[in-house]
Amino acid sequence: MTDDLYSRDSYLRSCDAAVIEVRDEAVVLDRTVFYPRGGGQPGDSGVLRWEGGECGVTDTTKSHDDGEIVHAVDPSTPPPKAGTSVTAELDWERRFQHMRTHTALHALSGVVFTEFGAKVTGGNMDSGGVARMDFELDGISQEFGHEVEERLNVRLAENVPVRVHFLPRAEALADTDLIRTKVSLIPESVDPIRVIDIVGIDKQADGGTHVASSGEVGRVRVIKTESKGKANKRIRIQLEDP
Ligand SMILES: [Zn+2]
Repeated sequence: MTDDLYSRDSYLRSCDAAVIEVRDEAVVLDRTVFYPRGGGQPGDSGVLRWEGGECGVTDTTKSHDDGEIVHAVDPSTPPPKAGTSVTAELDWERRFQHMRTHTALHALSGVVFTEFGAKVTGGNMDSGGVARMDFELDGISQEFGHEVEERLNVRLAENVPVRVHFLPRAEALADTDLIRTKVSLIPESVDPIRVIDIVGIDKQADGGTHVASSGEVGRVRVIKTESKGKANKRIRIQLEDP
Protein backbone atom coordinates (compact mmCIF):
# COMPACT_ATOMS: atom_id res chain seq x y z
CA MET A 1 0.00 0.00 0.00
CA THR A 2 1.07 3.58 -0.66
CA ASP A 3 2.50 5.53 2.26
CA ASP A 4 -0.04 8.38 2.57
CA LEU A 5 2.24 11.22 3.66
CA TYR A 6 -0.62 13.77 3.60
CA SER A 7 -2.33 12.02 6.54
CA ARG A 8 0.58 12.96 8.82
CA ASP A 9 1.64 16.25 7.23
CA SER A 10 -0.96 18.05 5.12
CA TYR A 11 1.53 20.85 4.29
CA LEU A 12 3.81 18.66 2.16
CA ARG A 13 3.50 20.00 -1.39
CA SER A 14 5.69 17.44 -3.13
CA CYS A 15 7.57 14.20 -2.56
CA ASP A 16 9.92 11.84 -4.35
CA ALA A 17 8.30 8.50 -5.09
CA ALA A 18 8.56 5.37 -7.21
CA VAL A 19 5.90 4.16 -9.62
CA ILE A 20 4.84 0.72 -8.40
CA GLU A 21 2.02 0.11 -10.88
CA VAL A 22 0.49 1.62 -14.01
CA ARG A 23 -3.25 1.05 -14.55
CA ASP A 24 -5.63 2.46 -17.20
CA GLU A 25 -4.46 6.06 -17.46
CA ALA A 26 -3.55 5.97 -13.78
CA VAL A 27 -0.49 5.47 -11.63
CA VAL A 28 0.10 3.97 -8.17
CA LEU A 29 3.10 5.29 -6.20
CA ASP A 30 4.96 3.88 -3.20
CA ARG A 31 4.34 7.16 -1.33
CA THR A 32 2.32 10.26 -2.10
CA VAL A 33 1.26 13.73 -1.01
CA PHE A 34 -1.91 13.48 -3.16
CA TYR A 35 -5.16 13.18 -1.18
CA PRO A 36 -7.65 10.73 -2.72
CA ARG A 37 -11.25 12.00 -2.97
CA GLY A 38 -13.24 11.10 0.14
CA GLY A 39 -15.11 12.37 3.17
CA GLY A 40 -16.51 15.23 1.09
CA GLN A 41 -13.06 16.50 0.11
CA PRO A 42 -12.16 16.50 -3.62
CA GLY A 43 -9.15 14.50 -4.85
CA ASP A 44 -5.88 16.32 -5.48
CA SER A 45 -4.47 17.30 -8.85
CA GLY A 46 -0.94 18.29 -9.85
CA VAL A 47 1.96 16.90 -11.83
CA LEU A 48 4.40 13.96 -11.92
CA ARG A 49 7.92 14.73 -13.17
CA TRP A 50 10.71 12.30 -14.02
CA GLU A 51 13.90 12.28 -16.03
CA GLY A 52 12.83 13.02 -19.57
CA GLY A 53 9.12 13.47 -18.97
CA GLU A 54 6.17 14.76 -17.06
CA CYS A 55 2.42 14.31 -16.99
CA GLY A 56 -0.49 16.00 -15.27
CA VAL A 57 -2.48 14.34 -12.48
CA THR A 58 -6.13 15.24 -13.05
CA ASP A 59 -7.65 13.56 -9.99
CA THR A 60 -6.79 11.20 -7.15
CA THR A 61 -9.10 8.47 -5.88
CA LYS A 62 -9.06 5.32 -3.79
CA SER A 63 -9.67 2.19 -5.85
CA HIS A 64 -12.95 0.44 -4.99
CA ASP A 65 -11.32 -2.89 -5.75
CA ASP A 66 -8.18 -2.87 -3.61
CA GLY A 67 -8.12 0.46 -1.75
CA GLU A 68 -4.97 1.66 -3.52
CA ILE A 69 -4.46 5.39 -4.02
CA VAL A 70 -4.79 5.94 -7.76
CA HIS A 71 -3.42 9.04 -9.52
CA ALA A 72 -5.43 9.62 -12.71
CA VAL A 73 -3.04 11.01 -15.31
CA ASP A 74 -3.71 13.27 -18.27
CA PRO A 75 -4.38 10.84 -21.16
CA SER A 76 -2.70 13.12 -23.72
CA THR A 77 0.80 12.36 -22.36
CA PRO A 78 2.28 8.89 -21.75
CA PRO A 79 2.49 8.02 -18.03
CA PRO A 80 5.78 7.00 -16.38
CA LYS A 81 6.59 3.29 -16.50
CA ALA A 82 6.59 1.05 -13.42
CA GLY A 83 9.84 1.49 -11.51
CA THR A 84 10.37 5.11 -12.57
CA SER A 85 11.50 7.56 -9.89
CA VAL A 86 9.22 10.59 -9.98
CA THR A 87 8.60 13.82 -8.14
CA ALA A 88 4.91 14.18 -7.30
CA GLU A 89 3.87 17.80 -6.91
CA LEU A 90 0.46 19.09 -5.87
CA ASP A 91 -1.57 21.93 -7.32
CA TRP A 92 -0.99 23.53 -3.95
CA GLU A 93 -3.29 26.52 -4.35
CA ARG A 94 -6.24 24.24 -5.00
CA ARG A 95 -5.33 21.84 -2.20
CA PHE A 96 -4.76 24.60 0.37
CA GLN A 97 -8.23 25.94 -0.44
CA HIS A 98 -9.63 22.46 0.23
CA MET A 99 -7.79 22.39 3.57
CA ARG A 100 -9.26 25.73 4.60
CA THR A 101 -12.74 24.73 3.43
CA HIS A 102 -12.56 21.37 5.21
CA THR A 103 -11.52 22.92 8.51
CA ALA A 104 -14.30 25.52 8.08
CA LEU A 105 -16.87 22.72 7.72
CA HIS A 106 -15.68 20.91 10.85
CA ALA A 107 -15.76 24.17 12.81
CA LEU A 108 -19.27 24.82 11.49
CA SER A 109 -20.45 21.41 12.69
CA GLY A 110 -18.86 22.04 16.10
CA VAL A 111 -20.47 25.46 16.48
CA VAL A 112 -23.92 24.30 15.39
CA PHE A 113 -23.73 21.34 17.78
CA THR A 114 -22.40 23.13 20.86
CA GLU A 115 -24.47 26.29 20.47
CA PHE A 116 -27.67 24.89 18.91
CA GLY A 117 -27.56 21.17 19.74
CA ALA A 118 -27.97 19.96 16.16
CA LYS A 119 -26.13 16.99 14.68
CA VAL A 120 -24.69 16.75 11.18
CA THR A 121 -26.42 14.51 8.62
CA GLY A 122 -24.14 15.15 5.64
CA GLY A 123 -21.73 17.49 3.94
CA ASN A 124 -19.66 18.13 0.84
CA MET A 125 -17.05 20.50 -0.60
CA ASP A 126 -16.95 22.17 -4.01
CA SER A 127 -14.21 24.17 -5.66
CA GLY A 128 -13.97 27.91 -5.02
CA GLY A 129 -14.03 27.57 -1.25
CA VAL A 130 -17.72 26.62 -1.27
CA ALA A 131 -19.18 23.84 0.85
CA ARG A 132 -22.43 22.65 2.36
CA MET A 133 -23.42 20.87 5.51
CA ASP A 134 -26.77 19.36 6.48
CA PHE A 135 -28.10 19.38 10.04
CA GLU A 136 -30.79 17.61 12.02
CA LEU A 137 -32.84 20.75 12.65
CA ASP A 138 -36.62 21.21 12.63
CA GLY A 139 -36.44 24.57 10.92
CA ILE A 140 -33.97 27.02 9.44
CA SER A 141 -34.11 30.73 8.63
CA GLN A 142 -31.89 33.42 7.18
CA GLU A 143 -31.55 34.92 10.66
CA PHE A 144 -30.30 31.57 11.92
CA GLY A 145 -27.76 31.60 9.09
CA HIS A 146 -26.54 35.06 10.13
CA GLU A 147 -26.28 33.97 13.74
CA VAL A 148 -24.30 30.86 12.84
CA GLU A 149 -22.01 32.91 10.59
CA GLU A 150 -21.28 35.37 13.37
CA ARG A 151 -20.56 32.71 15.99
CA LEU A 152 -18.49 30.63 13.58
CA ASN A 153 -16.27 33.60 12.71
CA VAL A 154 -15.77 34.46 16.37
CA ARG A 155 -14.58 30.91 17.06
CA LEU A 156 -12.33 30.72 13.99
CA ALA A 157 -10.70 34.03 14.90
CA GLU A 158 -9.60 32.54 18.24
CA ASN A 159 -6.90 30.94 16.10
CA VAL A 160 -6.85 27.65 17.99
CA PRO A 161 -4.54 24.83 16.86
CA VAL A 162 -5.87 22.06 14.64
CA ARG A 163 -4.29 18.79 15.77
CA VAL A 164 -4.05 15.41 14.08
CA HIS A 165 -4.16 12.40 16.44
CA PHE A 166 -3.93 8.71 15.74
CA LEU A 167 -5.95 7.21 18.60
CA PRO A 168 -6.08 3.51 19.46
CA ARG A 169 -9.57 2.35 18.44
CA ALA A 170 -10.62 1.49 22.02
CA GLU A 171 -9.64 4.97 23.17
CA ALA A 172 -11.52 6.65 20.30
CA LEU A 173 -14.68 4.63 21.00
CA ALA A 174 -14.63 5.81 24.63
CA ASP A 175 -14.23 9.51 23.76
CA THR A 176 -17.55 11.34 24.28
CA ASP A 177 -16.83 13.91 21.54
CA LEU A 178 -16.16 11.13 19.06
CA ILE A 179 -19.22 9.12 20.12
CA ARG A 180 -21.36 12.08 19.04
CA THR A 181 -19.88 11.88 15.55
CA LYS A 182 -20.63 8.13 15.34
CA VAL A 183 -17.05 6.89 15.52
CA SER A 184 -18.46 3.39 16.21
CA LEU A 185 -19.58 3.18 12.54
CA ILE A 186 -15.95 3.16 11.33
CA PRO A 187 -15.05 -0.37 10.11
CA GLU A 188 -13.52 -2.50 12.85
CA SER A 189 -10.33 -3.05 10.89
CA VAL A 190 -9.45 0.65 11.25
CA ASP A 191 -7.07 0.99 14.19
CA PRO A 192 -5.69 3.46 15.09
CA ILE A 193 -8.36 5.99 14.19
CA ARG A 194 -7.25 9.34 12.78
CA VAL A 195 -8.85 12.26 14.59
CA ILE A 196 -8.93 15.96 13.69
CA ASP A 197 -9.13 18.14 16.79
CA ILE A 198 -9.89 21.84 16.27
CA VAL A 199 -9.09 22.45 19.88
CA GLY A 200 -12.19 23.50 21.84
CA ILE A 201 -14.37 23.77 18.72
CA ASP A 202 -14.76 20.35 17.13
CA LYS A 203 -13.25 16.90 17.31
CA GLN A 204 -14.05 14.06 14.93
CA ALA A 205 -12.60 11.05 13.18
CA ASP A 206 -11.58 12.14 9.71
CA GLY A 207 -9.26 11.22 6.86
CA GLY A 208 -9.05 14.67 5.24
CA THR A 209 -6.38 17.36 5.10
CA HIS A 210 -6.76 20.41 7.34
CA VAL A 211 -4.98 23.67 8.08
CA ALA A 212 -2.83 23.86 11.23
CA SER A 213 -4.80 26.60 13.00
CA SER A 214 -8.37 27.89 12.76
CA GLY A 215 -7.11 31.38 11.88
CA GLU A 216 -5.80 30.10 8.53
CA VAL A 217 -9.40 29.54 7.41
CA GLY A 218 -10.05 33.28 7.51
CA ARG A 219 -13.61 34.58 7.61
CA VAL A 220 -16.49 32.45 6.36
CA ARG A 221 -19.82 33.59 4.93
CA VAL A 222 -23.09 31.68 5.17
CA ILE A 223 -24.34 32.14 1.60
CA LYS A 224 -27.54 30.08 1.79
CA THR A 225 -29.85 28.28 4.18
CA GLU A 226 -32.42 25.83 2.85
CA SER A 227 -34.65 22.95 3.85
CA LYS A 228 -33.83 19.57 2.37
CA GLY A 229 -36.52 17.67 4.26
CA LYS A 230 -38.33 17.42 7.56
CA ALA A 231 -35.31 17.14 9.85
CA ASN A 232 -32.63 17.96 7.31
CA LYS A 233 -31.59 21.61 6.96
CA ARG A 234 -28.72 22.79 4.79
CA ILE A 235 -26.18 25.55 5.40
CA ARG A 236 -24.03 26.59 2.45
CA ILE A 237 -20.79 28.44 3.25
CA GLN A 238 -18.04 30.16 1.30
CA LEU A 239 -14.58 31.32 2.32
CA GLU A 240 -14.66 35.10 2.31
CA ASP A 241 -11.20 35.19 0.77
CA PRO A 242 -11.12 31.99 -1.32
ZN1 LIG B 1 -14.08 16.03 7.43
